[in-house]
Amino acid sequence: MSKATQKSINHFDAIVIGSGPGGEGAAMGLTKAGLRVAVIEKESTVGGGCTHWGTIPSKALRHTVSRIIEFNRSPIYTGDNRQVHSTFSAILGHAQSVIGKQTRMRQGFYDRNLCTILHGSARFSGTHEIEVQAEDGTVDKYTADKFVIATGSRPYRPKDVDFKHPRVYDSDSILSLQHDLATSSSMEQVLSAANMRRFSAGSASR
Ligand SMILES: Cc1cc2nc3c(=O)[nH]c(=O)nc-3n(C[C@H](O)[C@H](O)[C@H](O)COP(=O)(O)OP(=O)(O)OC[C@H]3O[C@@H](n4cnc5c(N)ncnc54)[C@H](O)[C@@H]3O)c2cc1C
Repeated sequence: MSKATQKSINHFDAIVIGSGPGGEGAAMGLTKAGLRVAVIEKESTVGGGCTHWGTIPSKALRHTVSRIIEFNRSPIYTGDNRQVHSTFSAILGHAQSVIGKQTRMRQGFYDRNLCTILHGSARFSGTHEIEVQAEDGTVDKYTADKFVIATGSRPYRPKDVDFKHPRVYDSDSILSLQHDLATSSSMEQVLSAANMRRFSAGSASR
């Protein structure tokens, strides 16, 4: 393959790093404006924090836990001393079907708009050049005229909080919580400790 052909295959008008809501919005806007766009995502599926470890899992958790609390407190259902309880991992397991649907819908936005998705971890190797390291360790280089960095954020861990304590979690590590949510009070603790009441879910269509 000639150098010129190789360059045009690996060259884009714009490269977006990250496929969360920020990267997706940028990629859709650029591709609809007629640019040749690639999105680089280090995870195996698109969607970012919103789909995989933020909005969707937290809302699935909040909804399920609040329904369980409501059931366990209602005299209509608890007359014969029935109590529903579940584990955190079981509840998150149910959220997987929602996550799967969201991922397929978001992948469809990219497919429909002819936007290339490259899976791997991106790092700049030049002003207009980027290296993408795939999970198997292989590295490919891509160039672009413009870049959008939409790599999101990670939970802040203040130095005076002991995150090694078995009952201290951040919004990422809480997703691997192992407690049995057997009592209403432990369920409520999970809801408020995760501070998930504050967020309200949004939706989008492209
Ligand atoms: C518990 C929780 C609940 C939330 N609830 C809501 C809610 O109800 N409503 C709401 O509007 N918002 C909510 N949010 C916030 C929302 O999730 C974020 O605002 C949103 O995901 C930020 O989007 P982003 O595109 O900036 O980053 P992200 O969604 O974090 O996406 C960044 C992407 O970049 C990728 N990436 C990072 N570095 C690289 C690299 N070097 N190479 C390739 N890819 C890379 C990551 O894998 C990721 O997919 C919640 C957040 C949390 C933590």
